[in-house]
Amino acid sequence: MQLIILGAPGAGKGTLAKNIQQYKKLTHISTGDLFRKHIKQQTDLGKLAVRYIDQGLLVPDEITDDLIEHELEIIRSDFVLDGFPRNISQAEELDRIMKKFDIKLTACVHLDIDPDIVIERLVNRRSCLDCGAPYNLIMAPPKVEDVCDKCGGKLVKRADDNEDTINHRFETYRQETEPLVNYYQDKGLLIEVNCDRGILTELDNLWQDLLVRE
Ligand SMILES: [Zn+2]
Repeated sequence: MQLIILGAPGAGKGTLAKNIQQYKKLTHISTGDLFRKHIKQQTDLGKLAVRYIDQGLLVPDEITDDLIEHELEIIRSDFVLDGFPRNISQAEELDRIMKKFDIKLTACVHLDIDPDIVIERLVNRRSCLDCGAPYNLIMAPPKVEDVCDKCGGKLVKRADDNEDTINHRFETYRQETEPLVNYYQDKGLLIEVNCDRGILTELDNLWQDLLVRE
């Protein structure tokens, strides 16, 4: 099974990706993790990406595309993509890559959410400084305050999880990423999930939908 997760900031993409990974035994491919891995290992792509990141610039699409192509060539099947594609041009690029390696997309899962709910959720979001595990002080709190359940690392708030930057990220998402909903709907690959009550309450329905497509 090959999946894409699409969702507004704070809709629960990370949480869903982790659950899908455990339940369906899929490899979680997150662009953030991939960049960290390549930068740490000082690969050619990592060295290229770090030049932009060091200057506070967005990494150009071509570099991210190459990163995904490199990864899919190795993995080939049973994965869930998180953080890619982010716009129509990346989606077209993904189509090309998948065709090249003869990979079929099973579905694109779209997490839909009310912006007001997102803002409340994001300001309560924390993640582990060491392993990146996601938490939410209201919906998925750690057992011990500010400490990661999994590795004992310190939980931190992302610098961009405040109301102004959240609004800005939502706007960027609307303009660039939301057109992908129609893109995948036209291909008959879209599964819509309303996340206003939290992604965890919707998992059973989602497994049913995926079972049909498997
Ligand atoms: Zn941790």
